[in-house]
Amino acid sequence: MPLTKQTRTRTREKTDILIVNANELVTLAGNNQKPRVGKQMLDLGIIRNGAVAVKDGRIVAIGKTPEITKLYKAENTVNVGGKTVLPGFVDPHTHVVFAGSREDEFQMRIEGASHQEILDRGGGVQRIVRETRRASVEKLVDSSTERLNAMLEHGTTTAEAKSGYGLTTKDELKILEVIQRLNQLHPIDLVPTFLANAIPPEFSNNPEDFVRLIISEMIPKVAEKGHAEFCDVFCDRGAFNLDQSRRILVAGKNSGLKPKLHADETSALGGAELAASVGAVSGDQVLFSSDEGMKAMAEKGVVATLLPASAFNITNNRFADARSMINLGVPLALATDLNPNCYVENQQLIIALACHFMKLTVAEAITAATINAAHAVNRACELGSIELGKKADIIVLDVPNHKFLGYRFGVNLVDKVMKNGRLVVDKEAARTEFRLLEEQEM
Ligand code: ZN
Repeated sequence: MPLTKQTRTRTREKTDILIVNANELVTLAGNNQKPRVGKQMLDLGIIRNGAVAVKDGRIVAIGKTPEITKLYKAENTVNVGGKTVLPGFVDPHTHVVFAGSREDEFQMRIEGASHQEILDRGGGVQRIVRETRRASVEKLVDSSTERLNAMLEHGTTTAEAKSGYGLTTKDELKILEVIQRLNQLHPIDLVPTFLANAIPPEFSNNPEDFVRLIISEMIPKVAEKGHAEFCDVFCDRGAFNLDQSRRILVAGKNSGLKPKLHADETSALGGAELAASVGAVSGDQVLFSSDEGMKAMAEKGVVATLLPASAFNITNNRFADARSMINLGVPLALATDLNPNCYVENQQLIIALACHFMKLTVAEAITAATINAAHAVNRACELGSIELGKKADIIVLDVPNHKFLGYRFGVNLVDKVMKNGRLVVDKEAARTEFRLLEEQEM
């Protein structure tokens, strides 16, 4: 009867977009005030035949499809029948802004060249520093945009972005300005971090002078411009030692920059302990960290951001001991570590590596790449799960359930990406267009 239909239509609340018929709606809802640890990492909050209603860029309703469609209507209803819906991936550790590349060194490494040989032939991080210093803001925006596009197409909707290839006050500020511009131009939300990445050649004989420059000039200027939210240090042999790292992080903290740390990548220097003692939001890489260091991080709730691609790529297949960390109650996040020496934009591949080499379950890896990753960049109240009031950053994977992540790898499983309630990637629409074109030609 038409009257009944009208009445029903009138009572349904209008939203902008409805996503309906998800075979699995992976919400990760609930218990998200703190990063998840231990068994909490297994709880994906899956709704079968799920639906989400989105209005003004926010999630306004979640439930079973029949319930949601009874209560809500929308201009645009996206039927994702048979597919899997997740919160957009958060990539909490990237060096996405740089100029140049290191493919020749990759070849040399394959052929067995030592680190010293690579340096002798003008390679290493300093080559990227030289090219990044030479590059204009526009050029850096352009090259980084290409990488951000690849990240978005693979389902990343928020990413951290570090400076660190400038190593002069002017060039570090330039990179942070690039990050700010990208944040305005690109759908991916970027979380900016000032990184004390390396000691430049001009200070190789007096690294303490460089540390003083960072503390007395770079950090105050970065803080004054308001272009960074975090301060990070590469604490390792050949970079900054433990004491220098502590002083830099404390100076950053005093200027309002929250601490993060590249810790224990090539040896147990005490980086994890330092991350805990300065109250860092995350300790990253943590390949060789001691049990004491891990316990200290667990106690302080410091997220261990693991970077399996850089283990796969650089450190001769030594992977972080993720299972022990979970047993100790350390919250884990996963990141690409995208940089010229670990050129990967794809969080799906990171999940696959974490499952294959670190023995994370798929559920743990998904938690680490979504809600815990959001905690690692201080955004968990806004993103990382599909919950009422959060940003509608949602991805649709063209697979029947979440267990295909990691299992089916080497291809992009993303079908759609929604950022702030707007569809920014839609492969199905592109495929339909292609089909129509083919039909026209026939
Ligand atoms: Zn890094």
